[in-house]
Amino acid sequence: MQTINSAFQYCDQLVRDFEKVIEKPIVGKSSVYYTGIDLGTAYIVLAVLDENYQPVAGAYRFANVVKDGMIVDYIGAIRIVKELKQELEEKLGTELIYAAAALPPGTFTLDSGAIKHVVQGAGFEITNLLDEPTAANAVLKIKDGAIVDIGGGTTGIAILKDGEVIYVADEPTGGTHFSLVIAGAYKMNFDEAELYKRDVKNHRELAHVVKPVIEKVSSIINHHVSDYSVEGIYLVGGTCCLEGIEDIIAKQTHLPTYKPQNPMFVTPLGIALSCTQEIL
Ligand code: ATP
Repeated sequence: MQTINSAFQYCDQLVRDFEKVIEKPIVGKSSVYYTGIDLGTAYIVLAVLDENYQPVAGAYRFANVVKDGMIVDYIGAIRIVKELKQELEEKLGTELIYAAAALPPGTFTLDSGAIKHVVQGAGFEITNLLDEPTAANAVLKIKDGAIVDIGGGTTGIAILKDGEVIYVADEPTGGTHFSLVIAGAYKMNFDEAELYKRDVKNHRELAHVVKPVIEKVSSIINHHVSDYSVEGIYLVGGTCCLEGIEDIIAKQTHLPTYKPQNPMFVTPLGIALSCTQEIL
């Protein structure tokens, strides 16, 4: 099975550059900086790009401010985004003004106001608010296929035709469920299981424990793609960091399944690429 195709060359390079600047920010003389803010169930990620939309800095923090795609701790979300903004501003020696954010598919009418207020409350001017699969596709640049985003709380599915999102769904199975299954199997508490799961050294050993959850995610994918002629599945989201997840999904869905090198940063980078200087 093919795991990396040419569609991922740009994506993989961008993610590699981003991983480098998280460790060592590029302090330069950009005339403007664009920030992407990804408020997730498990992580809040900030990605900063320069005037040429190249990564210059990034930061992320494990947080419990979002559940099933909805902000449940509004004050906590503002505080963390503000802290990450300050941290990055100190590293870059500049003020970060413009930001974009994203929402899981289907939560726009309910939660877009809250996300906008979090971004503004943290001191940014908000310039774009888009749905997560559209953000991910700013990096993946897929014309036809399904983007499957397995995050912390949910699995999002977006079907694309001629580069446009034509169908979206979001189902409440994600990385949290993987951690719960590991906690049960290993008699660990949730936080221990979460850390154990994220350590790639444990992935091979965990394969048989998490296989049923991957099969459950695969059945969710099958259910949603069955009415469409989907040619391939493109995986994003932190849970797709699990070694071999793409092989099980490919087997269960009978569809070629592609995974970028680090699926966790695709959506945050896509959000940053969608940031402009035009305030909403
Ligand atoms: P959601 O999209 O559901 O709102 P989120 O945006 O926080 O959540 P991501 O940041 O894409 O989601 O992914 C977070 C999930 O990825 C967590 O469950 C985390 O445990 C998992 N994860 C992160 N790194 C790894 C890893 N190396 N191996 C396995 N799982 C990982």
